[in-house]
Amino acid sequence: MIPFAPPRIDERTIQAVTEVLRSGWITTGPQTKEFEKRLAVYCAAEKVIALNSWTNAGELVLRWFGIGPGDEVIVPAYTYCATANIVKHVGAKPVMVDVLDDFTMDPEAVRNAMTPRTKCIIPVDIGGMPARVAEIVKVAEDSCAWFIPAVNLRVGGSNPQMRLGRALVLSDAAHSFGARIADKPVGTQADITGFSFHAVKNLTTAEGGALAFALPPPFKAEELYAWFNTMSLHGQSKDALAKTTPGAWRYDVEAAGWKCNMTDIQAAIGMVELERYDRETLPRRKAICERYDAAFAKDPRFMVPLLKEAGRESSYHLYMLRVNEATEDQRDAIISAIAKQEVSVNVHFIPLPMLSFYKAAGYRMEDYPRTFQHYSREISLPVYFDLTDEQVDTVIAAVIAAVNEVMG
Ligand SMILES: *Cc1c(COP(=O)(O)O)cnc(C)c1O
Repeated sequence: MIPFAPPRIDERTIQAVTEVLRSGWITTGPQTKEFEKRLAVYCAAEKVIALNSWTNAGELVLRWFGIGPGDEVIVPAYTYCATANIVKHVGAKPVMVDVLDDFTMDPEAVRNAMTPRTKCIIPVDIGGMPARVAEIVKVAEDSCAWFIPAVNLRVGGSNPQMRLGRALVLSDAAHSFGARIADKPVGTQADITGFSFHAVKNLTTAEGGALAFALPPPFKAEELYAWFNTMSLHGQSKDALAKTTPGAWRYDVEAAGWKCNMTDIQAAIGMVELERYDRETLPRRKAICERYDAAFAKDPRFMVPLLKEAGRESSYHLYMLRVNEATEDQRDAIISAIAKQEVSVNVHFIPLPMLSFYKAAGYRMEDYPRTFQHYSREISLPVYFDLTDEQVDTVIAAVIAAVNEVMG
């Protein structure tokens, strides 16, 4: 059986985790702080904070910006539920927009969806291909004249909505760590970029996430880091490590914070992953995607995913193949036929309006025709470090046999 996306765990990972377990310090501490520094260097960001998931990190961003009931947050209809769930968590309204042919958020649709209540826009780098973040920041800037900031908001001594004066752009870069925009790594194009290190992602810590700060002046990355660091640990003025200094037991809590810190066990996995990311992980993923391209790009029955063009390159997280003429039922039948050949594939993603919760909330699939069209034909093929060329060829043969069987 060929699995879909197993993590790469080898002796080096096991050794790194074992060292932390034996060190006497297992929660947030020296490993996490070092991991944050290396992540910042990697994405050329001034400051990065490592947290326990993209979801909790993203939710903390919405809370930091003071987003709540009455506010709107623009998200693509084509994404994982986490992107919109965090908006619900803070009591705001997710406003969905359609996507382009490369699966990323349509900046013009964002422009049309902007209202004075739009407090945040969350583009998603789906499959690892960076969304048009610069264009979306421009849309946010163009709408600043009618942006209505919350008046009574105070976060760490200032009002971030007043200071920014426009909707915040939070990038959902859960798939795109290591992707590139205009030859720079993803991480500094949006105001805040959120990464996921969940087990199936390109770079994993088992569970985990991180935020890279790139807000314009007068925001200071250092101050943002301090706020997120404190608020990810109950709002406590001293973390567990600082309290281990003899006599340093006293602490204070200035605000009821949350709990979403990363542990040193996770960070140790992340550091092994990061160290070999550019040298081993990305080249292997790219080679797998190119092997798929060589098999499918010239076959008119398929549409291969856009992975690279001038100014943008994917992190090769997913290979999102589309079967051109397939209906949703035919696509499902193709997946069943592939599964019979012992190959695991997936669909990214079931659009939000098709999920019971969002459907019940009144979102309608008909309003996002391109999202539905892409979804109904989409099949994600396995991409992971340990997948061999021979296995890639097995996947290709299984897909072609299944398409022949179902589409005739
Ligand atoms: C995985 C994923 C998330 C959630 O990441 P977690 O770290 O699991 O919280 C968010 N958005 C997208 C697009 C994802 O694929």
